[in-house]
Amino acid sequence: MNDRAPVHGTHVLYWMQQAQRAEFNHALEYAIEQANALRLPVVVGFSLASFPEANRRHYLFMLEGLRETQKRLAARGIGFCIRQGPPEEVVPGLAQGSALLVGDIGYLRVQRQWREAVAKRVACPFVCVESDVIVPVAEVSDHAEFAARTIRPKIHRRLPEFLKPLKSRAVAIPSVDLAKPSLPLDDPAALCRTLGVDHGVAAADRLAGGFTAANKLLGRFIDHRLAAYAEESDDPVLDGCSHMSAYLHFGQISPLDIALRVHKSDAPRVAIDTYLEQLVVRRELGMNACRFNPGYDRYDALPAWALQSLEKHRKDKREFLYARGQWEAGATHDPCWNAAQAEMVRSGQMHNYMRMYWGKKILEWSRTPEEAFDTILYLNNKYELDGRDPNGFAGVAWCFGRHDRPWTERPVFGTIRYMNANGLHRKFDIQAYIDRWLGPKNSLSPPSPPPVRRKIEPE
Ligand SMILES: Cc1cc2nc3c(=O)[nH]c(=O)nc-3n(C[C@H](O)[C@H](O)[C@H](O)COP(=O)(O)OP(=O)(O)OC[C@H]3O[C@@H](n4cnc5c(N)ncnc54)[C@H](O)[C@@H]3O)c2cc1C
Repeated sequence: MNDRAPVHGTHVLYWMQQAQRAEFNHALEYAIEQANALRLPVVVGFSLASFPEANRRHYLFMLEGLRETQKRLAARGIGFCIRQGPPEEVVPGLAQGSALLVGDIGYLRVQRQWREAVAKRVACPFVCVESDVIVPVAEVSDHAEFAARTIRPKIHRRLPEFLKPLKSRAVAIPSVDLAKPSLPLDDPAALCRTLGVDHGVAAADRLAGGFTAANKLLGRFIDHRLAAYAEESDDPVLDGCSHMSAYLHFGQISPLDIALRVHKSDAPRVAIDTYLEQLVVRRELGMNACRFNPGYDRYDALPAWALQSLEKHRKDKREFLYARGQWEAGATHDPCWNAAQAEMVRSGQMHNYMRMYWGKKILEWSRTPEEAFDTILYLNNKYELDGRDPNGFAGVAWCFGRHDRPWTERPVFGTIRYMNANGLHRKFDIQAYIDRWLGPKNSLSPPSPPPVRRKIEPE
């Protein structure tokens, strides 16, 4: 990240940011290896910064994870020091006297800016090691890929090289006592109250943060759900998904760890392949989009064919129109949409299929496509625990044509792919989903026909 000449120092600092875990972390293992070679201790530093759009829900989940990471690092003899402030202030402070600064890699604009600012302000060499994808993003491609079908063969070609266990190194010199002063992590809720973060969103009621929680969920998923993943993961009524996205977002679990465990499971081949398609191809397509498309979060950076088509249909009559407050309150005429919104607001995680439907309906019932784009991003990033993630920006843009192709032309959408509630009725017992999130009084009329399962995926 910088071209500083090697310097003598008292320690090696690993600035943990994206990969917030003590195991299966390539950046941490590299830092340990370098520290051992230099006969120095390695210390892990964390800057508790203000992250755009993050609120109490996100900080609490992250701090729960960091509390565990601190303990797990201590068990390996490694000190963890967390301080409040932006990385460009906290990290150079922690790196004073360092022989080497090691970082991890993040794909969002703010994460890249942090690393660039830190690189300029430290006196020692600064090296970043990628650990939150399986195939390093720059090894896959050097441009923004058009769709899953264009990136898939490139990822598959390199997968055997990277789908390999990571060796855990022992530290030569323990550093637990060196990591001071540090904020107390024993009570994440209490620490959260002292941070100047938005407290308007309650903690999510479905998932607890941290590696142990992730690991338990993953174990249960592999033992009981993975075998039927290809048939059941699209159904919002069945709990057929892994719920790994929030843990992946905060780097509390490694995608490599997940992939290896799924890969060696005794689930049917089709289930393993379908899951790895999501975890590796779809997920890493999102990283590719953020790495190579500077406008990944902007409406005007959508593909030209999509913008032209939406422009042509700008003045089309919308059957319903809702404003931000109505969307946020889940107060539309559509119980399916309201239930999806309720799932996200309460649990912090909407089912993937419903995210697609939910986004498409915001496009259909907003005054302009630009307003729809802003509304989806706002709600997604405010309420989803996994929000503000490359996959979130890619998922929102998918609702407007990115990583997709033109479909039959129709009002409002133009040639952007359309979705409607009939699909939900046909495929799923959607009334059960509504009952779960809105209560049984929100009945559908006419009653839903029996579900027919068919997989629909973004191209
Ligand atoms: C409008 C919209 C918004 C979205 N916002 C987000 C977001 O903010 N953060 C986020 O991580 N994902 C987002 N997604 C992608 C997807 O919905 C979630 O990753 C998925 O629902 C997470 O649930 P899971 O971990 O149980 O998935 P599983 O089905 O168990 O899949 C395993 C992993 O594969 C990856 N994955 C699964 N589906 C997709 C997909 N469609 N695209 C890319 N990667 C995928 C995720 O990392 C996921 O954890 C969005 C999709 C849409 C259409």
